[in-house]
Amino acid sequence: MTWDFCTEPEFERKLEWMRELMRSEILPLETLRGELGWEGLQQAVTPLQRQVRDQGLWAAHLDPELGGQGFGQVKLGLMHEVLGASPIAPLVFGNAAPDSGNSEILALAGTPEQKDRYLHPLLAGDLKSAFSMTEPETAGSDPTLLRTRAVRDGDDWVINGHKWFSTNGSIADFLIVMAVTDPEARPHSRASMFIVDADTPGVEMVRDVATMEHPYESYGLYGNHAEIVYRDVRVPASALLGAEGAGFLIAQQRLYPGRIHHCMRWLGVARRAFDMMCERALYRHAHGSALGGHGVVQGWIADSEAELSAARLMTLHAAWKMDTQGVLQARKEIALIKFYGARVLHDVVDRAVQVHGGLGYSTDLPLETMYRFARAARIYDGPDEVHRASVARQVLRGYRAPADEVPTEFIPARREAARQQFAELLASVTSND
Ligand SMILES: Cc1cc2nc3c(=O)[nH]c(=O)nc-3n(C[C@H](O)[C@H](O)[C@H](O)COP(=O)(O)OP(=O)(O)OC[C@H]3O[C@@H](n4cnc5c(N)ncnc54)[C@H](O)[C@@H]3O)c2cc1C
Repeated sequence: MTWDFCTEPEFERKLEWMRELMRSEILPLETLRGELGWEGLQQAVTPLQRQVRDQGLWAAHLDPELGGQGFGQVKLGLMHEVLGASPIAPLVFGNAAPDSGNSEILALAGTPEQKDRYLHPLLAGDLKSAFSMTEPETAGSDPTLLRTRAVRDGDDWVINGHKWFSTNGSIADFLIVMAVTDPEARPHSRASMFIVDADTPGVEMVRDVATMEHPYESYGLYGNHAEIVYRDVRVPASALLGAEGAGFLIAQQRLYPGRIHHCMRWLGVARRAFDMMCERALYRHAHGSALGGHGVVQGWIADSEAELSAARLMTLHAAWKMDTQGVLQARKEIALIKFYGARVLHDVVDRAVQVHGGLGYSTDLPLETMYRFARAARIYDGPDEVHRASVARQVLRGYRAPADEVPTEFIPARREAARQQFAELLASVTSND
């Protein structure tokens, strides 16, 4: 089958429009983020959001009936590669996590009433949301271990549990909570999703967890990660999102395309770090030459270029496979890029920091922010190790152990078989001697 990652000229013009908006408006705004604060930033991006809507690029991950573009994954990927270079751009384009993923879940599994009440205001930017699955007491990398419970009580569900790392939880208007509804069911059918209004009695915001990204205690900031206790939280039956027991299925449908978008965003960040590294290699001199004249730095540049190209092609291939064959057929490719892309992002940013020396470590350059961002990429959305194991399992399914436990390529056995196959030839060659 022919691989084709081409896009029509009209879409290339849209990409060029996005690149120009990044250069002229979004990247300059980045430097004022601290001074503007969240309110100021929102004011600054509002006119840009209008331009994005006028271009028909708002919330492009959704289908046209929900105001999106119905772009396939290849186009979305190319778009995320441009926008990923700045953390502000997704806000401008209506595809910032976790709202983008949550809007996909609502679009996928929501009832018409849930779409009216939550999805449409979310897309309009009137509501904020969070996805509340990971728990401090159980391994997030194995969500079948979830302990948060939702128990049916008459027409209601009552939720009890302890979550953390619910991004934007402390500023969210509603939370999508994953809870076990049938502990006796098969592991992947035990949990369901619920839409919980943040002001429901029993939703207790414990704190925002300080992280490598925001190392100082703060509360209620955009991008913070909330620790939340759900104590006897009573929600109506209409809060169930999708079918009972379908929590994992819905999460998977959201996560697969989301991983392609993550990887393309990472490539946008890594390319920006790479550009900084190359620029630095040309003008900084040490030990008799520009840094780019030293073999080690040349190696870093060449390795980074190769890894970026490989990660980009792998990601576009995964996107193309999802577009042409469906999400299940692309599972291996998506797991592959999740850990490979996160590693490439990390390594390229790390080399760029190193080439800049002390300046790279300082906040005078965006590299240190990128480095912290890159570190998280290896953990969220499934740690590297889980995706590696998944790829290996899928690869191994394509192989069979030899019945006699002799390697297929074992030369003595192959030679013996070949002797029989070519007995006549061998006899004639031997008799010629
Ligand atoms: C920036 C950020 C944002 C996040 N946002 C959200 C959010 O919005 N909502 C939400 O619910 N969660 C969120 N999370 C949580 C995230 O999904 C979890 O941290 C992740 O799933 C890992 O779970 P854990 O932290 O419990 O680590 P654990 O499951 O305890 O894993 C720890 C380590 O164990 C190792 N490990 C695990 N399994 C295997 C294996 N099979 N083989 C070998 N080694 C293994 C890995 O090295 C792994 O890193 C976020 C996390 C971060 C860092």
